[in-house]
Amino acid sequence: MHENTLSENLAETFKEVSAMKNYGEVASYIPELQLVDADKFGVCLTSIDDSSCGQGDCNERFSIQSIAKVLSLTLAFKHLGRSCWERVDVEPAGTSFNSLVHLEYESGIPRNPFINSGALVVSDMLVSLLKDPKKEFLEFVRLLAKDDSIDYDDKTAASEYAEGYRNFAVINFLRSFGNIENDVEEVLHFYFHLCSIKMNCTQLSRTFLFLAHGGKDPISGERILTRSQSKRVNAIMMTCGFYDEAGEFAYEVGLPGKSGVGGGIVAVNPGSYSIAVWSPKLNPQGNSYRGMKFLEKFTTKTGHSIF
Ligand code: GLN
Repeated sequence: MHENTLSENLAETFKEVSAMKNYGEVASYIPELQLVDADKFGVCLTSIDDSSCGQGDCNERFSIQSIAKVLSLTLAFKHLGRSCWERVDVEPAGTSFNSLVHLEYESGIPRNPFINSGALVVSDMLVSLLKDPKKEFLEFVRLLAKDDSIDYDDKTAASEYAEGYRNFAVINFLRSFGNIENDVEEVLHFYFHLCSIKMNCTQLSRTFLFLAHGGKDPISGERILTRSQSKRVNAIMMTCGFYDEAGEFAYEVGLPGKSGVGGGIVAVNPGSYSIAVWSPKLNPQGNSYRGMKFLEKFTTKTGHSIF
């Protein structure tokens, strides 16, 4: 009997989800993100043998937003090892990505590196660590993507800065607890830029491939993280990658993943592939409606899951 290949399963699932009604709202609290066409939909899967298959708008770039938090954590973890965890925890927050509620009674130690407070602390670590954080971070992302065309989008970063009251509040609160070492403006500038990076699904799935291969880039052979560190980053994606919907994503999809308010989601099937989906309409928790739906159907059809 013919068994569907990955690319056949991908194409079938894409067709199925494209035919369904699309729900949700495009993010508007960052004005620049509102300009996107809400009905865009793309997906790309890259296997550790470097073969890719894509569908729809898989070669159109979008703002990766919080997905970049995995890459900033990777760079900080690579440099600092476990001492990272003195300033940020690895527990699911169960709150929205920009919440302040836990910070007060947990003395300014963010629950995890993927909520905004945690990502701001990680950004501060990188600002302390790197000579030219913006330049060096971009070089790192280009190395992972094996693509020098990847860049920040200054317009999106400026748009977020202009309306970034919540992140200003979070970082000042963190600073009052002594958990930010650098000038808050400098750290915010870096953070807004890393969130503004644009990639398409093909580039994004390639960028995350090292996490599907025990921390080693299967294409270049470069070791990005140790096997143990890679396991840990995947574990944090699994438990904290979707804010107050991390449980739902584990239940529906069953793979470690990370979402961004630009409508992107990337998920990793350890030992096999990385997959990126983009659809800008978000559910109330700030995760791509179609992205979640697609991955749920794809992993159900293929039986791929870490569980
Ligand atoms: N840059 C966004 C913010 O700080 C990232 C949020 C997200 O993608 N969930 O609010």
